[in-house]
Amino acid sequence: MRPKPPPNYLAGYPAALAAQVQQLIRQDKLADMLRQKYPQTHTVRTDKALYDYVLEAKGKYLGNAASLSKVAFDSKLHVIQNALGMHTTIARVQGAKLKTKREIRVAALFKDMPPEFLRMIVVHELAHLKEREHNKAFYQLCRHMEPDYHQLEFDLRAYLTYLDAEGEPLWLSVKADAGALTS
Ligand SMILES: [Zn+2]
Repeated sequence: MRPKPPPNYLAGYPAALAAQVQQLIRQDKLADMLRQKYPQTHTVRTDKALYDYVLEAKGKYLGNAASLSKVAFDSKLHVIQNALGMHTTIARVQGAKLKTKREIRVAALFKDMPPEFLRMIVVHELAHLKEREHNKAFYQLCRHMEPDYHQLEFDLRAYLTYLDAEGEPLWLSVKADAGALTS
């Protein structure tokens, strides 16, 4: 069986811009650029911490728009396709009422990322609570929550492209230090 072609994380951008990222990767320059721009790793380590983080941002920007039944890191969720994370709406009948439950799952990959990228993915998923599609209103909402949204999404996609090209992860969590000697 042939392996599936890797997702093209930069498909939505002008070809010249995507080519520039590829070139920086080939020249071994992208990693340093990203590390300089984003020197830190965030500290949101657990589902509970992520839940609190998401809820705080939601309260600040969206108020009580929609309640979230679950927020979690998901280790099976790896690839960005059309969505960067995954947002699900589950309608179920509870007693006599139809209740809508909404969940936000963030790929576990985001545990080892700078705070800016975590913020970007959370903003993205929160915006989906109001807008299902990646339309103009959706991106307006993203920019309202994070003025630098577009640059962050581009830089994140550049990083994912770098990882796909067998680049070493640039941000490792504190927890990883403990087991680092075993390999
Ligand atoms: Zn999306």
